[in-house]
Order: sequence, then C-alpha cells, then structure tokens
Amino acid sequence: MTKINQHSGKLIVFSAPSGSGKTTIVRHLLKQEELNLKFSISATNREPRGEEKHSKDYYFMSFKEFKQHIKDEDFLEWEEVYRDSFYGTLKEEVHRIWSLGKHVIFDIDVSGGLRIKRKFPERTIAIFVKPPSIDELKRRLKDRSTESEDKINMRIAKASAELATAPQFDHIILNDHLENALEEAEDVVADFIKIPLRRDEEEEE
Ligand code: ADP
Ligand code: 5GP
Repeated sequence: MTKINQHSGKLIVFSAPSGSGKTTIVRHLLKQEELNLKFSISATNREPRGEEKHSKDYYFMSFKEFKQHIKDEDFLEWEEVYRDSFYGTLKEEVHRIWSLGKHVIFDIDVSGGLRIKRKFPERTIAIFVKPPSIDELKRRLKDRSTESEDKINMRIAKASAELATAPQFDHIILNDHLENALEEAEDVVADFIKIPLRRDEEEEE
C-alpha cells in the first residue's frame, strides 16, 4: 500500500443540504480505522453550538481574524455559507493531516466541496448526501433541535439550490435508511482510497 503523505494523500468531500445526515456519515467513517481518515477542522466565525469545542469541531474565530486569513490567502476555499456566517478550509489543516499519514475527510457546503474537487480533481472524491425529501429534511432539523426556527428556515431555503448541484458530484448517496447509507459510504470511500494517483499532483493552491 502507498504510504500516505503530501503527494499521495486523498481528499474525501461530503457535501449536502444541512440536515441530510452528512455529519452522521462522516463520524461513522472516522471510526473505521482501516480507512485512515482524519477530519478537516474548518475555521468559522459562527458561535460554538452545544458541546462544540475549539480545535475539535471548528477553529472558532472572530470575523476580523477570518478576514485576515482571507487576505493572507490561507484558505484552500472559503464561503459565506449563511448570511454573516463564514466557513473555510485552511491550507495548513490539509497539510497537517497528510503529514500525519492520513487522508482528509471534509464536511463542507456544496460550493466549497466542488471548489476542492476543481482544485484537486484527481485526488478528490466529492460525495453528495441526498435526503429523501425537503419535508424529511425539515423533520430532521427540527428533531436535531440545535437551531432556532429562523435558522432552520434559512437552511431549508437554501436546500433546493443545493440539491440542484448533486449531478456535479462524483457520487450521490441517498440517505433514507441510515444503515444502507453508512454501508454505501464505507464502500465508496474504501474503493477510492485504493486507487493510486496517476501522477504526483502539484496543483495550484
Ligand atoms: P448534517 O450534518 O447534514 O446537517 P446530521 O448528520 O446532523 O446532518 O443529521 C441531521 C439529523 O438527522 C440528526 O439528528 C441525525 O441523527 C438525523 N439523521 C441522519 N440520518 C438519518 C436517517 N437516515 N434517518 C433519520 N434521521 C437521520
Ligand atoms: P454548521 O453551522 O451546521 O456547522 O455548518 C453549516 C454549513 O457550513 C454546513 O453545510 C457545513 O458543511 C458547512 N461548512 C463547514 N465547514 C466548511 C468549510 O470549511 N467550507 C465550506 N465551504 N463550508 C463549510
């Protein structure tokens, strides 16, 4: 098996409308030791939620700090995912994970996911997690009880446009029955990390 390093490390992107189940799937994959994955911790200026911890769930920072990282070109990609809520992947984070000998797994929004795919076409698999319906998405977000009704509505309002991007992804997983979705995710990721890169990619960053 190829040793994982800056040249052979892969990027596993999970994107979906909020509430589709991507965090659930990503957490499950992280428990599968043989996949050798590590979660890409994003930077954000949104407030921590519930039990979330700095440097574990996100690098929480002020808007001013976030803007400085943009200016310094520290991000591989960043987005204002919801109004005034910025999220981004630090280049440093990806290199840190590869240097630990792991593949990088992302839970990021659809635009960010597709941007990473465009930057690293060969070493990225972009997977879209599709909910059975918008009504089911609403139910899941309500049951998760982590956002106010306003925030839930903001997330739902974005969902149709996000669903329309699904065909641009390498693979679509329908998350209806969770067990089936988890199994499919394991199979797709295991197959992808087995594929050797055709050449050492030195893409622009
Ligand atoms: P996302 O990260 O895409 O916002 P989550 O993984 O947080 O979504 O899932 C949203 C909610 O839906 C969570 O409460 C989760 O437990 C639940 N959930 C995930 N997958 C399913 C499924 N297949 N059926 C029912 N509930 C699900
Ligand atoms: P949440 O506030 O629920 O944690 O995340 C909101 C949205 O931001 C989710 O769709 C999540 O996937 C996305 N997100 C998290 N980190 C990043 C990132 O680094 N870049 C981009 N583009 N989106 C992100």
